[in-house]
Amino acid sequence: MSLRHASSSWVVVLVVSALALGGGHGRAEAIYTAGHADLGVGYLPADKQFDPHWHTHAGATVDGVVTTVDGEYEPATMMAQTWAQRLTPSGGGGLAGLLGVPNGTRISVMGSTTYQPNLGFGTEELDPADWTTPITIRFNPLASTLPSAAAFGLYTTNIGGTTVVDRLFSSFDTGATDFNNTLQLNPGDHAHYQWGFTQQGTYDLNFTWTGTHVTDGPISTSATFRVQAVPEPSTLALLGIAAGAAVAGMIRRRRHAAARQRAFG
Ligand SMILES: [Zn+2]
Repeated sequence: MSLRHASSSWVVVLVVSALALGGGHGRAEAIYTAGHADLGVGYLPADKQFDPHWHTHAGATVDGVVTTVDGEYEPATMMAQTWAQRLTPSGGGGLAGLLGVPNGTRISVMGSTTYQPNLGFGTEELDPADWTTPITIRFNPLASTLPSAAAFGLYTTNIGGTTVVDRLFSSFDTGATDFNNTLQLNPGDHAHYQWGFTQQGTYDLNFTWTGTHVTDGPISTSATFRVQAVPEPSTLALLGIAAGAAVAGMIRRRRHAAARQRAFG
């Protein structure tokens, strides 16, 4: 969107909504913004349920503080926040089918050291001896809440970032994914992918973990994890300056108008 053509009042509204995006959230979550974390999963034998959770690794930034030890958080007590952006690949197979936007579209991303926070999926807490199948993680678009007209996708690209290699999750078109919105990890494993978000805003993403336990049989547990795609802090600052300039401009115009009235009135 172009600030140049925006009316001054519209700029002010934009700043207010951008600040609300960055600071306002209804739940008392910890906010994870950088470093390494995983959507981890353990097993609760007494409940015969998985326990999906946030697993932050030492060095992750939580509430603006670089942590020194690993941390575990229930799904609703943390959210990931990203302001990293990049263009979707336009050569070698783009993301148009996965995200519903043309190749070369600027989107919010995360899930790597380059595009923070570096959030992955982990099954390290599961003992391979306890499971007779890989663990399947399914993304559930219908149980997820996205900003209006937004799409979420999970994928990998080649090192250059120009060719899409794997299409794992899509809120836009399950049929555009390689395995119908599922990915598999062996117990004791760990993997990172690129998360793409076509709009800024809050994404409540619902996933289901499924596997067959050696004595308890088939196990399936779902949980929702929140991610916010927000404007870059420097963009926020620029918007603030733009809003200040717009307000100053309005005041100047009002003074000119008053002066003209005095001159001609
Ligand atoms: Zn990881």
